Amino acid sequence: MTKQVKILTENQINYIKALLEEKKVSIITQDILNKIQNKYGLNRLQIKRRATTTGFKINIGYEWKEITDNVPKKSYISLKCNVCKNEYVTQLIKLKGRTYSKEPLCPKHYRDIINNSSEWREKNRQAQLKAQNRPEVLEKQSLSQKRRHADPKVKEQYRQIGKKLWKNKEYAEKVANSLRKKWEDPEYAERVISNSRQQYHGEYENLKYQSLVELAFILWQKSVNKKIERYNLKGIKWNNNKNYYPDFIVNDNTIVEVKGGPNGWMHQRKDEIILKQKALISWCENNEYSQRLVFKKDIPKNFYKKAKEIHVKTYSKKDN
Ligand SMILES: [Zn+2]
Repeated sequence: MTKQVKILTENQINYIKALLEEKKVSIITQDILNKIQNKYGLNRLQIKRRATTTGFKINIGYEWKEITDNVPKKSYISLKCNVCKNEYVTQLIKLKGRTYSKEPLCPKHYRDIINNSSEWREKNRQAQLKAQNRPEVLEKQSLSQKRRHADPKVKEQYRQIGKKLWKNKEYAEKVANSLRKKWEDPEYAERVISNSRQQYHGEYENLKYQSLVELAFILWQKSVNKKIERYNLKGIKWNNNKNYYPDFIVNDNTIVEVKGGPNGWMHQRKDEIILKQKALISWCENNEYSQRLVFKKDIPKNFYKKAKEIHVKTYSKKDN
């Protein structure tokens, strides 16, 4: 009896190719694998063997969103870069080794993130060096050395003073650090900027708004009896572990980010909006929420007009 050589038929190959093209991936993702298995009743090993016999090169792996804790480290992963949208195939173990960002990024755009953060560190290091070498700091250092030779009583006094100073310094540094960290977070910067420069921020029926567009959106949702509240869940991780807090939750199931225009404001770049949106989308996939990005142009014009009227009415009264 001769063993029959099993190969993939032309139809099967074409079917696989069509799936790859449809998904715009170059490896057999789990979703594609399932489809082939269901259609032809072949298991994973059979598909792999037959493809090899036929001379049809395939790699079986996972799409970014198919990754779970159980995926073997050496598996092939197909991801679409958050920045350039190109497919990038790599092994899971290489992605796990990334420390600067857990976002799906191609090597080029991952490198950009590393460069940005190392650039920042270097700037910071140089600023600290400069501060240490300022004449008054050096003077203080030499004075404190002389003091160590004073008599024990005085010495103890100085020691206490030094301790206090040191504590103050530590405290000041802590504050400075946390402030700097906050400013690094564009959300924080945005909030501060919008609070200080935004002409239109206030509260409407216990809901805070930071712009007329936001108020217009609130009015619109209320007019169609939607439940609307400010986003009150945990921050969504994006870009190297920074937190992102979207604007609203509508009907307990949809997270909404309201934007003035697709290009963002002067302090928020378009690619930043895209990165956050991507983070929000993948967060939603795991948390049973859906999401929407609403631009000014999406909101019916009459609500914008109404928003302005309400705001002016509410906030001009207080001044009088
Ligand atoms: Zn890229």
